[in-house]
Parts: sequence; structure tokens; C-alpha cells
Amino acid sequence: MSGRILVVDDTASSRVLLKARLAAAFYTVILAESGAEALRLAEENEPDIVLLDVKMPDIDGFEVCRRLKANPHLAHIPVIMVTASASEAEKLRGLRAGADDFLTKPFSELSLLARIRNLLRMKLMFDELRLRGETIRALGLPDIAELPAKGAKRVTRILTVAADPLVADTWAQALARQLSARTATAQGVADALAAVTSSLPDAVVVDQEIGAETDGRRLVSILRARPETRRSVILFVAGEGRQDLAAQALDLGASDTLIRPFEMAELVTRTSTQLARKHLSDRLRESIREGLMMAAIDSLTGLFNRHYALRHLRAMLARAGESGRPVAALMLDLDGFKAINDTHGHLAGDAVLREFARRLQENVRGVDLVARLGGEEFLVVMPDVDASVALSVAERIRKAVEQPEFRLGEGEGSVRVTVSIGVGLSEPGETDSEALIRRADAALYASKNAGRNRVTVEKAA
Ligand SMILES: [Mg+2]
Repeated sequence: MSGRILVVDDTASSRVLLKARLAAAFYTVILAESGAEALRLAEENEPDIVLLDVKMPDIDGFEVCRRLKANPHLAHIPVIMVTASASEAEKLRGLRAGADDFLTKPFSELSLLARIRNLLRMKLMFDELRLRGETIRALGLPDIAELPAKGAKRVTRILTVAADPLVADTWAQALARQLSARTATAQGVADALAAVTSSLPDAVVVDQEIGAETDGRRLVSILRARPETRRSVILFVAGEGRQDLAAQALDLGASDTLIRPFEMAELVTRTSTQLARKHLSDRLRESIREGLMMAAIDSLTGLFNRHYALRHLRAMLARAGESGRPVAALMLDLDGFKAINDTHGHLAGDAVLREFARRLQENVRGVDLVARLGGEEFLVVMPDVDASVALSVAERIRKAVEQPEFRLGEGEGSVRVTVSIGVGLSEPGETDSEALIRRADAALYASKNAGRNRVTVEKAA
């Protein structure tokens, strides 16, 4: 995985050393020698990761990190803070400023590179989600960031897994208290998987020692591979001096690691940072799904919308051109719908449209596409048909609408609804979807003129 890394350090020798190590691992390195330069270069280059020195004369690393995280264009870029010596308090300060990790020099190259790989993977996922969001905007749809958040805030669930029940319990209690999470504990792989199955956790904290039969790294890789926990936060806790195991856990898919000894506050902060990231990406994913739905679906009836249906019809005609099998377009218009609205109100009108959509869907074939073009006007696109099949489906729809009457809601009685239908059939090799729609429209007009509640197939040219 390649990546662009911004190295920020006021000491020339540190910059040179890091650059050499990172370049040897095939990363592109950008150097900054002050906090101010770092902020400028981050803006100009949009790096994939920032390696940030804590002690600098102009703006210190904490402040640079805070400013990066406060900038909406740069907030998604992972930051690793680097220092020669750090107290627990300083480390926590960095993590709380929004840093993704805090490494103390001298750190092993192994740890650094594993952490970089892990953060690059994560950023790649975010970039992909952001890109999909932009595609949705490019389709002329609402900015997914502006869509209202749906649903009530869910309780955060955390599972802690350790061979020593006291250890699992201590972590669980700290996380439950500080993050208002619902927690559970487990020992060993089988127990952990049973716990995951009964109640899916947002985060799993896995100790290096989880039981006699295996160690925590195996559980990390099992959890990461399972579909239901693929997106869960996984924190791996390595024993004292076991930076090597922590690095392996990152490569196996851990979201973050801790190395003993650590303070509970560090466990809480790292878990909370990872959970915030997970919630953001869950929300992005959800909004993309919603955005795509809005791109294709009519919200009243749940049918496809005009935009999608016309695009689909064009694609279908292009494909039919190759197979030589004609495509039928059925234009449908409810008869006297304005009168239903005027007499019974718009809510009743909406109920009629929804019920019509339901009957329509029940009476087409599985491969047919049903869309609401707008108002009381609908379209069915049928691939691979001849005139007799299209006519029989259209007749079936007409009859299914005519009877029984449409119920208007509890105690509101019912109303007779009928539909006029026009059928257009594509000519061999025809790719002009608008011409086909026009012919179906003309046939629909003929049905209306002939007294409504009937089907007209376009006359052969
Ligand atoms: Mg320095």
C-alpha cells in the first residue's frame, strides 16, 4: 500500500532519519520543520498520514493536531504523535487532541510501519466512502452530510476478552463507567464468539492472553474475518515489551493496540477514539445507502422514480438492440384522480397511489420495472416481450385496479379507481427511448379518448 506521509519535526536529524526509513518502505515523504509549515503543507498536499513531533518552538504538536482535526478538509487524516520522552499525562493529552497514536522514541521500525499500514487501510476505507458520497452529490442529490441522522442513539456495546476474569472485568467496568457502554466479558475464543453472536459488540478489547488454547492474535484475525464483526472496533492489549505482538495484531486487523503497563484512561481514550471513527463510518455508509435510495426510489410508493426508470429504459433498449427481442413500455394514468383528491383529500389520494403501486407490482412479471413518473402517472418497462404478452399484462393490471374498490383508510369507506393504459413496443434495433415513450403516451391518450379504463396498443407504423 503506497501513501504520502507528512513528517513534522523541528530537528533536522530526526526528519532525515524518518524520511530514510519511510522511503525505504516505499512511502512518499513530505517534510515540514515547524508547526506552521506542517499546517500549510497538510492543506496543500492532503497527506495520507501525519507524523507529528510534540516539541516544536512555534506551534507545538498538540496544537497542530487540534488544528488539523478542527479543519473539515483535514480532520480525516490520521495523526501519529512522536516524542522523545512522554509521561502518561502527555500521551493522554495527545490522544485527546485527536491523535490516532502516540509513539515514544526510540520506537521500533516494526511498530511504526505496522501502525502506518493500519492507519492507511483505515484512511483508504474513509476515502472510498467520501468518494461515494461525492458521486451521490454529483448525481444532483442532497449532500449526505446534510441528511438528518436517523434513529435513536444506540447503546454502545463493548466486549472484553482476557484469560484472567479479573482483568476482563476491570477493563469492562472502566469502559462501562467512562463511555456509558453496556459491557460483557469472555474467556477464550469459543466463549468470545458465543458472546459476539448473542449480542453484537461495537468494540472488542482482546488481551494477548485469552485462554490456554491460543492467544489473542488468533481471536483478532477470526473477528476481523467474520462478516458481523468485520466493522467492529478491535483493540489488542500486548504484554510489557511485546511491541512485536502489537505490530502483528495491527496487521491481522486490530484497530488499535495498547502495551502494558497502561492507565485505564488510555484504554478509555483509545476505545472512544475508535468508536467515534466507527460511528462516523457507519453513518457515512448509512447516508450513502439513503442517498442511493433517494436517487432511485419514489418515496411515496417505494417504486423506482422517473430519473432511474428512464435511465434504465435506455440501458434496456441498448441491450434489446443486441438480442433483437422487443421492449414494451406501458404508460399508465389513473382516471379521474384529481376528483379523488378533491373529494377525499390528499391523504386519501396518497393512499390510493400507494395501493395502486402495490397492485401494479403484483401484476407485472418479476423482470419488469415499475416506476412512478410523477403525480398519478406510472411506467412499466417490460424486456423481452411481444405485443400479446404486453397486452395481456396490461389487461391484467387494468382488471386488478378496477376491482376490488380501493379502501381509503379506517372508517373512510372505499372508492372506485380505474386506470388507462397505453402500450408502446420497440422496433427491432430501436434505441431511442424517448420515441418509445412518446408512442406509449400516444396510445395512453387514445385510451383516455376512447372512454378510459382501457388498454390501447400503439398502432404499427
Ligand atoms: Mg522537537
